[in-house]
Amino acid sequence: MGISLVATRDDETVESWERPRSATSVRIEAAPAYAALPAPLLKVSGVSLEYRTPERVVRATHRIDLNVHAADRFVLLGPSGCGKSTLLKAIAGFHLPIEGEITLDGAPVRGPGPDRIVVFQEFDQLPPWKTVAQNVAFPLRAAGLLGRREADERARHYIDKVGLSRFADSYPHQLSGGMKQRVAIARALAVQPKMLLMDEPFAALDALTRRKMQEELLALWDEVRFTLLFVTHSIEEALVVGNRVALLSPHPGRVRSEVNCHAFDLASVGSRDFQAAVQVLHRRLFEAGSEADAAR
Ligand code: ADP
Ligand code: MG
Repeated sequence: MGISLVATRDDETVESWERPRSATSVRIEAAPAYAALPAPLLKVSGVSLEYRTPERVVRATHRIDLNVHAADRFVLLGPSGCGKSTLLKAIAGFHLPIEGEITLDGAPVRGPGPDRIVVFQEFDQLPPWKTVAQNVAFPLRAAGLLGRREADERARHYIDKVGLSRFADSYPHQLSGGMKQRVAIARALAVQPKMLLMDEPFAALDALTRRKMQEELLALWDEVRFTLLFVTHSIEEALVVGNRVALLSPHPGRVRSEVNCHAFDLASVGSRDFQAAVQVLHRRLFEAGSEADAAR
């Protein structure tokens, strides 16, 4: 298993798993020039987020820095309560930072917009009185993006992409949890947002369905090349879904480190390299962190 330092950009140290050339290869590489990289699509700079109640203030994240580039599958990985959902909501524009700034395509995020669509974990995110096609078409009509016919055509196109053409005229209660999540993904992609934000979208599914959904999401990404920000507390899921993973420390969330993991996909699960990577991330998330946190 080779873990190599491959790049430094924007003052971030980014590590990456490389497929080893020999059983013992561990390489530290000089940083290649990233000067030609385009500006990041999403820039999160020094963002702290808090909840204020009359009794107390809860700091959810502390001075987070992230850069997400177009067509990244960027994963926020961290234990429950470390502020992943709060950060995702801030990027979606539902929660304003108390310090720092979030910009999308260079413009500050000041509220929600059709350029960032969120898919949540809950299966009840679809109004039950609308059919699948109506659910997917609704945001296109509501945001005034398309007329009735065009919205219906676009909706059916994305319903087809998530493999639900036969269910376009069914209602949500006639679908399984996995199918409802496919509808939520189709509804999000149909808006053709700059970023798709997913907050533990498969966490409530059984293991087999979850794996199938991960596979489908990657196939969909291969086809559509959307920019994804994906939140999970599962190390395995992070390695499978992401090409880049930011590891967040426990409450309040800070970026502990960032790794590239494009070498892994569903076919790697169970391999020795994959298991080794899981172990390294586990140690970084929990063991190294508890020492560092205790020293603070
Ligand atoms: P994660 O998604 O990583 O599990 P969250 O972003 O949901 O974490 O929560 C981060 C922290 O903020 C937690 O300590 C949580 O208890 C707190 N928190 C979340 N939502 C609220 C809220 N509405 N009011 C007060 N505290 C909250
Ligand atoms: Mg959460």
